[in-house]
Amino acid sequence: MKYYDIVLEDGFFFQDAYTYKSSNDAIKVGMRVMVTIQNRERVGFVVKAYEPISLPYEVLPIKEVIDEEVILNQELMDLAYTMAHHYVAPTISCFQTILPNKLRPKSNHRPIKMVRMVRLNPNHQHSLTPKQAELVNLLETKKRLSYTQARKFYSNVKVLVEKGVLEAYEIEAMYEPQEIKQETFNHVLTQDQESAISKIKLGSQTTYLLHGVTGSGKTEVYLHVAEKALKNNQQVLIMVPEISLTPQMIERVSKRFGRDVAIYHSGLNDQEKYEQYKRVKEAKVKLIVGTRSSIFLPFTNLGLIVMDEEHDTSYKQGNTPYYHTRDIAQWRQKTHNCPLVLGSASPSLESYARALRNVYTLIELSHRINHQFPKVTLVDTNQQLHRPHGAYLSAPLENAIQHRLEKKEQVVLLLNRRGYLPILKDVKTQKVLECPHCDVALNYHKFDHVLRCHICGYQSNKTPTNMTLTGQGMGTERFAELIQHHFPSANVLRMDADTTRRKGSHAKILSSFIHHEYDILIGTQMIAKGLDIPNVTLVGIVNADAGLVHDDYRSVEQSFATLLQASGRSGRGDKVGEVVLQTFNQDHYAIVCAVHQKYKHFFKQEMMYRKLASYPPYSFLISVVFYDEKEEKAQVAAELFDHLFIDPTIQKIGPTGIRRLSNRYRVRVILKGKDLDTMINKTNEVIQHYRQRENVRFTVDVNPMGIES
Ligand code: ADP
Ligand code: ZN
Repeated sequence: MKYYDIVLEDGFFFQDAYTYKSSNDAIKVGMRVMVTIQNRERVGFVVKAYEPISLPYEVLPIKEVIDEEVILNQELMDLAYTMAHHYVAPTISCFQTILPNKLRPKSNHRPIKMVRMVRLNPNHQHSLTPKQAELVNLLETKKRLSYTQARKFYSNVKVLVEKGVLEAYEIEAMYEPQEIKQETFNHVLTQDQESAISKIKLGSQTTYLLHGVTGSGKTEVYLHVAEKALKNNQQVLIMVPEISLTPQMIERVSKRFGRDVAIYHSGLNDQEKYEQYKRVKEAKVKLIVGTRSSIFLPFTNLGLIVMDEEHDTSYKQGNTPYYHTRDIAQWRQKTHNCPLVLGSASPSLESYARALRNVYTLIELSHRINHQFPKVTLVDTNQQLHRPHGAYLSAPLENAIQHRLEKKEQVVLLLNRRGYLPILKDVKTQKVLECPHCDVALNYHKFDHVLRCHICGYQSNKTPTNMTLTGQGMGTERFAELIQHHFPSANVLRMDADTTRRKGSHAKILSSFIHHEYDILIGTQMIAKGLDIPNVTLVGIVNADAGLVHDDYRSVEQSFATLLQASGRSGRGDKVGEVVLQTFNQDHYAIVCAVHQKYKHFFKQEMMYRKLASYPPYSFLISVVFYDEKEEKAQVAAELFDHLFIDPTIQKIGPTGIRRLSNRYRVRVILKGKDLDTMINKTNEVIQHYRQRENVRFTVDVNPMGIES
């Protein structure tokens, strides 16, 4: 008989782990089990096993063991605890984040897909028809076939199984690796690239910041270092921030090495994720390309981690645990003793500041491979307002598009807002239509003719008519219509969250654009990043001001990055590229620096503002939000937190009521300080009071990406 500490699937019980007992030796730390709590059956995760001790309460037995083998190794177990502490999150939420859906401790988990197989019964002695013999011969060489495959050779497999010639059995469905034709790199590396590659040391725990303008050959550097790690028989993880970027990276990586890489991102279904997870766990695959969730894969021998576009906010998870992929990568590089390469044309201020302080090793690629930057034209939107829709399609942009279309070149237009009309007003009252559950405006989507909330997904049945509602603004859907109207013979394609809902649609849209089935691609920030299409010679940034007016401390940094990225999409091949940037703020430093590709200048200027306001990287922030359907309850909880949290070294901002979302009133306290460890320890300590009150709900975000108002 042993005692086991078990973390239960629901994070809302009083404590992190509960003790159960069992005399079943098969139970190991890292397995899922079924237990009862308050007369309910719950799935739990075994985190500790020990000899019975005396406890002041009755220890209940474990009802059932779910797994046959350990599903989480020691490294990932430790990681879950590190995360729980660092992000002030329930331990169970960290386990749930690390494990793929099929393996999560959850009552409603779906079984893993099984495949029926057949193999020869070694003892069979039957006379066979020629057709049957054909299948039997095949099985002698192949050893096993799936039932479906076997039936292609002899349709009545069932009879052979019944006669005992074949044995039928089941295995887990597994990914079938594909043959990939290798394409070697037949260019000469630039001196910058050579020197970058030689600086990155395998087997070291160094974090490198590879700062190189778009098209400076960063990806080539990753691939060359990856090659070295592969030669050492190590695994390599290359991360990109968005699913839309995975097809390109996968193609480039797999062709270069002539290997079928593992792919891991949220666009895969649970079964596909599980199959990729297994390939990594069993070390059947060495190269992995994925988005942020791939950082949790069960690597056995990781030799290199790459985070491309390291500044991208998609590397931060938007719910509990609010982790940043960079933190996780740094924890994992310690276990695997491998380098982490952060690449970007516009590094996050934190990373660049760390590089300047030699916490990271800075490596720079200062030239574009093709030695030409696109020509940037700034358009003062104020001068265009006399034209119909001039704020969106200025005369210079219209001419530039016309010119490129005539030359049979391609155009990318960026507009950071999806939908048709972002703001709708009631004609009579002039009131903006808001979501009944959130404090945000409803967006009109013309395609399905609905008003939709982009936060909670609420759809209004009140359809807009000219009589009752008037609209303002422009989303991608309406902009595509406008462009199509101006260029009737062009093929116009749109890519945003609405057109990429279906599985595989990212890849499909991009591939059709790459193959020039379309002339113009219109999209949200999704298209601003990383695309490398030689025939794109014009990028139009429709509303460059989108982020500049936002009052979040990080929004200028993010707009700058988007502008730099977006302009980097133009002229990546042999043809000279052009960028048209429409703005109301021609003199804003973010615009000026982006136009002239002056990262360091921007960095200095922005750091000055951060210093003045003592914002990160000059301080650390933790955002604690209490929420409830009743406003008063959230308020009281936040006030209590404010009351309990006393530390003279940590500044508190709030409690402040912020936007209601999905019917939840939210009240926030922001903590600001210089020593993150102290802040985290103190938050954990104070939050402990709340973990014991079942009915207070809150979220903690350590190093939030922004502070919404
Ligand atoms: P980044 O990742 O910095 O945007 P890439 O590695 O994608 O840059 O390189 C930009 C383009 O230049 C790609 O098409 C790539 O194949 C090509 N390229 C990279 N390095 C070289 C080189 N040394 N010689 C010629 N072409 C190169
Ligand atoms: Zn809503």
